Amino acid sequence: MAQIRILVVEDNNDNLELVRFLLERAGYQVLEAHDGQMGMDLAHQEIPDLILMDLSLPGVDGWTAARELKADPQTTSIPLLALTAHTLPGDRNRAIESGFDGYISKPINIQNFALDIEQALRAKKTDNKG
Ligand code: MN
Repeated sequence: MAQIRILVVEDNNDNLELVRFLLERAGYQVLEAHDGQMGMDLAHQEIPDLILMDLSLPGVDGWTAARELKADPQTTSIPLLALTAHTLPGDRNRAIESGFDGYISKPINIQNFALDIEQALRAKKTDNKG
């Protein structure tokens, strides 16, 4: 089976390194982008299995990138999780309205992280069957 590829869009290097470490430890292949435009470009080029995206990004922010990715037939079915410290109910709604399928809160809970990723990937498989 081909390795599952996850695109991480994050401008903060410490967060990026932590996420990369946790994903690689769980056996995933990591693609990385440091701003919203690069994230959208890589999503189109690579069609990853999942995208984890920060909201506050230089240039194109995460909300805008999410809207564009979900409006595009090529990338619309890729599970998209926000990686965010914005976790008040209003923030959550705003992320979902922008097209995110869910979110992982920062600071990252190292215990739950791999499970959250697994669940997001599984939710996608279930969608495809239906
Ligand atoms: Mn950021």
